[in-house]
Amino acid sequence: MLKLPVTEIFSSIQGEGPYVGVRQIFLRLPNCNLKCPYCDTATALPEQLRIESTPGSGIFNKIRNPMLIDELIELLQAYDFSVHHSLSITGGEPLLWDNELRAFLPFLKEKGIKIYLETNGTLPEQLLRVLPWIDIISMDIKLPFNGQTFWDAHEAFLRISLQKEVFVKIVVHEETDQQELRNARDLIAGVDPLIQTILQPVTTTRGINTPKPSQLIEWQRFFLSKLKNTRVIPQTHVFMGQL
Ligand code: SF4
Repeated sequence: MLKLPVTEIFSSIQGEGPYVGVRQIFLRLPNCNLKCPYCDTATALPEQLRIESTPGSGIFNKIRNPMLIDELIELLQAYDFSVHHSLSITGGEPLLWDNELRAFLPFLKEKGIKIYLETNGTLPEQLLRVLPWIDIISMDIKLPFNGQTFWDAHEAFLRISLQKEVFVKIVVHEETDQQELRNARDLIAGVDPLIQTILQPVTTTRGINTPKPSQLIEWQRFFLSKLKNTRVIPQTHVFMGQL
């Protein structure tokens, strides 16, 4: 019987991107194939998964990991999806669990649950394997760090994502390089200039500072010159005190 380790499950308000403000169930899966310098998420594989007992309470029940897929389906179906926009599958990098996702997403889709995937956009083959059950893709474009670049994987990923609703999110900070922004802008425009693009100012962490107001204004202008649907949206859940 297939099992899946889960980091946490909770009901909250989406804090990022164009769906900011909608109510979602969040299913956070562990592990990641990247190590972004500004990462604010615990990606380690936990012995126990946390489930918030009452939304907004910050009080969690803990149950054993990994979980049987059947148990996970049962647990998710217990939520009232009439008040939730969708199920957000997030991480870590959830596409590292593509086999397990293929085992339970069809059951949720049958129940009419909308699936919203939050991904770092670097695993195009894994995306293809789960694509039939995904409704909305929130794809990051990661600017280079630690000598690593992701342009080819991102382009392949974005082209596949066009089969569904997709938007792109780029985290920017005070030291973001203009040439890297140009590469990201041109990559997106080369796939489809109508793709919605979100510049997300980093929430200051570990010496990585949020951009100056003048930088954001200029970078948005720079993106708008090729991508007409560019918005600047910060992490709103942080100042709302939401998970
Ligand atoms: S891709 Fe996301 S979860 Fe993975 S290291 Fe980067 S910010 Fe963290």
